[in-house]
Amino acid sequence: MAKKKITILGSTGSIGTSSLSVIDSLSDDFELIAASAHSNWQQLALQARKYNLEKVVLTSVSGGKQLRDELKGTKTEVLIGAEFLPELAVDDRCDILIVSIVGAAGLPAVLAATEAGKTIAIANKESLVVAGCLLMPMAKKYGATILPVDSEHSAILQAMHSGNRSEVEKLIVTASGGPFRKASLETIKNATLEDALNHPTWSMGTKISIDSATMMNKALELIEARWLFDMPADQMEVMVHPESIVHSMVEFCDGSVIAQLSPPDMRLPIQYAMTFPDRRPCPAKRLTLADISNLTFEAPDFDRFPAIALGFAVAQKGGTAGAVLNAANEAAVGAFVNGSIGFMQISELAEQILNSHPWIEKPDLEQLLAADQWARDQVATLIK
Ligand code: NAD
Ligand code: MG
Repeated sequence: MAKKKITILGSTGSIGTSSLSVIDSLSDDFELIAASAHSNWQQLALQARKYNLEKVVLTSVSGGKQLRDELKGTKTEVLIGAEFLPELAVDDRCDILIVSIVGAAGLPAVLAATEAGKTIAIANKESLVVAGCLLMPMAKKYGATILPVDSEHSAILQAMHSGNRSEVEKLIVTASGGPFRKASLETIKNATLEDALNHPTWSMGTKISIDSATMMNKALELIEARWLFDMPADQMEVMVHPESIVHSMVEFCDGSVIAQLSPPDMRLPIQYAMTFPDRRPCPAKRLTLADISNLTFEAPDFDRFPAIALGFAVAQKGGTAGAVLNAANEAAVGAFVNGSIGFMQISELAEQILNSHPWIEKPDLEQLLAADQWARDQVATLIK
């Protein structure tokens, strides 16, 4: 059989490089043909040479000239600027698009690929949070397949196979609890960037690591699940599971709860999205239950982690609420990373902005993008 051709948007990040490791281990089945990175032109150039890529996009302008010089004389076409991401995403040669860009910056490419009827393995949860209300109907209309890479959603997709969709009663979304699971509110308030980045079970990019520390990541994932699985907020539950072995569960109407278990290694959910609905041997670590011996679960603490309630509220509300929460969070995380606000202010700002926004029930793309921009402006104003 011909190899499936893969394009990775955000190939230099944590998910991007894990995706490359999956492609390397299944090189008889998959072939990387194109990739994008934001600023790390050196790493992108190495990838272009290693995989003999057709095309690369560097989305930040600085480094563009160096990248062109570096790849002169190779077959790789070099495009500079974010406006080329949608073009890369809809390329006819690509069979599976992996979107591992961080933030709402991934949305234009996801929209374009959906409209082109592509198979999209989506790690970029933010685009579903912002525009799930448009993307899922579009996918249906244009025959696109949107497959989750997020470990929780991959687990849910896998568990869903145990019954019919109409028999699903509840999704139980697990959460590691992040670095502050046992910290007092006082400690969390004084958390430094270094504390927040110190995740106990997963090694990930900066933004999602901060989101895991505030548990905004779980809020975003509830909204993501709401759109991916068309699941109302009152049929979802968050369960803290510090070992990160049970990646989520589906409860069926007869009371059976089906879970997916594996060590915390993103290569498995990435690969599952690539081989779906089939399975292949995977380079990810195997589970040895005897070494673990204990799997523990606890209810989340909504007082120390107010972000979780925002996730339920937004999953229930829909419309422009997802765009506003996501943008407020992205801007607030940026402000925390550059030292302008304290750790707890991330969730506080997100909540305040969410509560004051002029909500639209059935927004079009323009209204979603306007809501995103409005929320970012609000963060800037409130910080001043
Ligand atoms: P990362 O920061 O490690 O990598 C981000 C990638 O996106 C890089 O290749 C970077 O060049 C690119 N990028 C950054 N800013 C960009 C911009 N403005 N425009 C275009 N490209 C840009 O992030 P990550 O941890 O790999 O996360 C990527 C996505 O996957 C996020 O949406 C995250 O929530 C999701 N995710 C990550 C993990 C994980 O284990 N890392 C798990 C589940 C979901
Ligand atoms: Mg996740």
